[in-house]
Amino acid sequence: MSVKVCKFGGTSMADGNIITRVKWIVGQDPARKYIVVSAPGKRYSKDTKVTDLLYKCHADLRAGKHITESFALVRARYNSIVRELNLGIDFDHILDETEERIEAENSENFTASRGEYLCARLVAEVLGAKFVDAEDVIFFGDDGTTDDNATDKAIRAAVEGADLVVFPGFYGKTPEGKVKTFSRGGSDITGAIVARAVGASVYENWTDVSGFLACDPRIVDSPKRIKSISYKELRELSYMGANVLHSESIFPVRSAGIPVQIKNTFRPEDEGTEIVPISRYVPSGDIVTGIAGMKNFTIISIEKSMMNSEIGFMDKVLDVLAREHISVEHVPSGIDTMSLVIESEQLTGLKTERVLEGIKESVHPDLIRITENIALIATVGHGMSSSVGTAARIFAAIAHAGINIRIIDQGSSEINIILGVKNEDYERTIQAIYYEFFGQS
Ligand code: ASP
Repeated sequence: MSVKVCKFGGTSMADGNIITRVKWIVGQDPARKYIVVSAPGKRYSKDTKVTDLLYKCHADLRAGKHITESFALVRARYNSIVRELNLGIDFDHILDETEERIEAENSENFTASRGEYLCARLVAEVLGAKFVDAEDVIFFGDDGTTDDNATDKAIRAAVEGADLVVFPGFYGKTPEGKVKTFSRGGSDITGAIVARAVGASVYENWTDVSGFLACDPRIVDSPKRIKSISYKELRELSYMGANVLHSESIFPVRSAGIPVQIKNTFRPEDEGTEIVPISRYVPSGDIVTGIAGMKNFTIISIEKSMMNSEIGFMDKVLDVLAREHISVEHVPSGIDTMSLVIESEQLTGLKTERVLEGIKESVHPDLIRITENIALIATVGHGMSSSVGTAARIFAAIAHAGINIRIIDQGSSEINIILGVKNEDYERTIQAIYYEFFGQS
């Protein structure tokens, strides 16, 4: 029998009416047996997510204050949901217990995790489902990554014999028995882990959009919807800022070959986007699948004659960065040149000075130059590897728009071309590439 894991994001949990809609969606398909929920998100654009309210509680705790005042806002959110749902349960008791435990644990991760915990307790009540606490089934190892074997085993044991199960997303437990969260948006990862553990036929990820668009709709008006995308393409696009799905949530489902379906809670009839292994990928006929990007990178360019014949040159440069705990996004290189592309926020104040000095000392370059305010743009698509002239079309379109390209990097898989342009040219570059491949609608 087909089994589906459904993860509902924050906007699908924002108020009682939407949770009633979620109940309806779950009831539409008996395969929807395993439900993972985020904390209630924003109800309107100026609203605050419950997770952010909780981070504020922790900031108060750290400042030595009691959390009564800041936790009151969290209480109010849940109380209003309980009222809207007409649930005859004593949720105050659960809220009191939670407040006490937040004070006792005094941990940012623990506090932040309570948004999902409380929401899952509520949703389990609404659905008449079994509640399984993530801290009892999602285990982190000593290196901070999840212990997949122990986790899968525990999830399977916990769901045994249950018809409908609700899990809170976003957190698990460390070997020391402490609650630890994933990075922001991490309930997507929980959903993927549960899907792997139960051997789901599909992982449905319910959001507030009807799937992926070929680029950011704030930059291009009504871009084309992507019907089907491979894990690999999605990984490239979400890494570069397309943020419908947490970029790490691909790994658990990819290893198990489970397709992901992005669905819209507010328009459940929409087809959405399907993310599939390459073996099931049906080419759409488009050369480019999507375009995504991010602003605010810094390029450190290094020049030295005969650099290519100097053994260990790159290692020495990268070692300087590793010592400063700086990760490098890309390293495009020429015969006597190499560039390091780094997120600007990693290079604050004195760090930049130390990096430049360190490089000068270790490799004695002829020239070292720093260029700030660079945006990176990735054009991604399996169609790109098989069609001749794609790069030429991208470059011609950008040249036509009068934009200067600062760096070019093509991944070895040939499904990705990354370009660096000035921050101020970011939007126009995306528009130029989009219109070249999808036309001006
Ligand atoms: N509630 C968490 C966040 O706001 C995790 C999630 O929504 O997936 O980041």
